[in-house]
Amino acid sequence: LHNEKSQLSVEEKEFENNIRPKQIVEFAGQQQLIENLIIFIKAAKIRGEALDHVLFHGPPGLGKTTLSRIVANELGVNIKETSGPVIEKPGDLAGLLTNLEPNDVLFIDEIHRLSTVVEEYLYAAMEDFRIDIMIDSGPNARSIQLNLNPFTLIGATTRSGLLTAPLLSRFGIKSRLEYYNADTLKKIIERSASILNTSISADAANEIAGRSRGTPRIANGLLRRVRDFAQVLNDGIIDIGITQHALKALNVDEHGLDEMDNRILSAIIEKFKGGPVGITTIATAVGEEPGTIEEVYEPFLIQEGFLQRTPRGREVTHKAYEHLGKKPGNAGFA
Ligand code: ADP
Repeated sequence: LHNEKSQLSVEEKEFENNIRPKQIVEFAGQQQLIENLIIFIKAAKIRGEALDHVLFHGPPGLGKTTLSRIVANELGVNIKETSGPVIEKPGDLAGLLTNLEPNDVLFIDEIHRLSTVVEEYLYAAMEDFRIDIMIDSGPNARSIQLNLNPFTLIGATTRSGLLTAPLLSRFGIKSRLEYYNADTLKKIIERSASILNTSISADAANEIAGRSRGTPRIANGLLRRVRDFAQVLNDGIIDIGITQHALKALNVDEHGLDEMDNRILSAIIEKFKGGPVGITTIATAVGEEPGTIEEVYEPFLIQEGFLQRTPRGREVTHKAYEHLGKKPGNAGFA
């Protein structure tokens, strides 16, 4: 099961688009963020202005793209979608920006992956709605200034720590998406099941919710797979029995931890006696970037009580030992 959008298959992307909430009232959870957004959207509409630039940051699959489309929808404007690595040259950016109608939304996913040059062009576009472009080359080369329609840039990133200060400062609205609790995930699963015309029992939805790593994308992905088992083995009915059978067959972790989560916990236990150990040392041990561990993996492990931060580094908890079926080797654990 994939967590990153870039790893999704064509079918998975299509499925995601089918069940994606289109209106703000259909979007579950993230309550504070939603309440604030509703105010900002209303205010922008009353003034007839473009909404301030928005940054959505947080781990993959929590609804950044979904929310961006909802914002455009609620504003009643068009949305153009692109992503950081796709905008290779300033000319690509100019092409996107000059095609926006007044107050439209430009959505840039993975905005931390913009090149430095493109990012610098973006500053003036965001601040003054203008862009300087070079025309001609050689001795005739000159730069001309284009005025743009006012627009809203919505940036999404899993790695806000990689954004530069000048870019960050140009977002008037910065919102962090949090992991979802099991109750909210259950509602999301039930909504998705009804769109899929599948019946699901409350305890089955609950079971899937608890194993979804706080993430709607994972919850929906599991629902899709469990539905396959139900269709073949249980007349299409998703009850607790078929759900437990399917989750077992799929080897889904009891607490919803993914492979990297488990690798991080095992490494701390096996190589560093349970910690405390520094984040860069852990990163080297599991072959991942320290920033990704800090922004994508660690928050969930801490929230669920598998890991804790101490002044001397990261330490696993009792729960981590139990989860991995290991015994603490020395007394220095929580
Ligand atoms: P991100 O851009 O943060 O990686 P997406 O917006 O692509 O995540 O969401 C992934 C999937 O999860 C989508 O299919 C979407 O329908 C679903 N989803 C995300 N957040 C919610 C939510 N709050 N309510 C219902 N479905 C959600």
